[in-house]
Amino acid sequence: MEAGKKALLDGKTGYAPSMGIPELRQAIATRHTEHRDTPVASENVLVTPAKHALLTFFLTILDPGDELLVPTPAWVSYGPQARLCGAEPVEVPSLEAGARLDVDGLHEALTPRTRGLVLNSPSNPTGAVLPEEDVRAALEIAQDAGIWLISDEIYADLIYGDAKAPSPAGLQGSLENVAIVDGVSKGYAMTGWRIGWLIGPTVLMDQAKKVQQHSVTHPTHFAQYGAVAALEGDQTCVSEMREAFQARRDLMVDGLERLGATFPRPEGAFYIFPTLPGFDSGEKLSQALLQEAGIAATPGEAFGKGGEGHVRMSYAASEEDLRAALEGIEGLL
Ligand code: PLP
Repeated sequence: MEAGKKALLDGKTGYAPSMGIPELRQAIATRHTEHRDTPVASENVLVTPAKHALLTFFLTILDPGDELLVPTPAWVSYGPQARLCGAEPVEVPSLEAGARLDVDGLHEALTPRTRGLVLNSPSNPTGAVLPEEDVRAALEIAQDAGIWLISDEIYADLIYGDAKAPSPAGLQGSLENVAIVDGVSKGYAMTGWRIGWLIGPTVLMDQAKKVQQHSVTHPTHFAQYGAVAALEGDQTCVSEMREAFQARRDLMVDGLERLGATFPRPEGAFYIFPTLPGFDSGEKLSQALLQEAGIAATPGEAFGKGGEGHVRMSYAASEEDLRAALEGIEGLL
């Protein structure tokens, strides 16, 4: 906060370099190299809001009529963003309610128009973390088919216990055919600063830069200094937040299991994706939760095939509110 305020008062309010200020590009490269085992140089980094980083990537690789493979249930913006490029999102339902990739299904969905495959681990909406085996299988598909793998790692700071969410670029030791999206919104709770980034090999970044230059020009100048301070400062606040979320995750897992809910085990992010006994429609379940228990949950159907019957609950709330929500669900059942 102070670094952003200082930058504002220091007059960092004019135009800035379109790829992002050098200090931030370097801090991002260091984060990925040192903490995500991914070889990233500042030339590989484009600073822009994470959601816009995804759109920038899609605008860079997709032409009208192209196809994008989206393992579902998936975050709601991948499909609409592909459509904004005139391309077609192809949903491939994942196994175990979103916890594992359907590798055979992904192979079968490949066509000559396929240009990319989306990975998001930890996942919104399930909180599940893909095992290394699945990430390696996705890499193999991307390499064999000559398509891009886009790894949305926005929840990488929020992984609990011994779980690991390996980055595909880290596993293969290079950015070849791989792009990464990340940002300060989740791990640093800086959602409104609108600072995220796209990472990729220079062949991709040279084109992505044109999208940035002809759209937002660059993200807000002074906000970028706040992101540098977040990435380079004391990281205790991140581990404290992670511990608080892990305690809430445990509370929700125990409480929902006691009520007979089924869900893929959430190992990261702050979502849980349960079904509840007596409800076979996520739509009806979310209506009942709202009207009868005052709980807001998103119907699983909104996240694509494989989300039917589930609801996405966010546990980004106080333990007191979560306990009250569990009581409300018990009352509903
Ligand atoms: N990717 C996923 C999976 C998300 O859940 C979100 C935000 O909710 C984003 C990307 C976009 O992040 P930002 O708000 O930083 O643009």
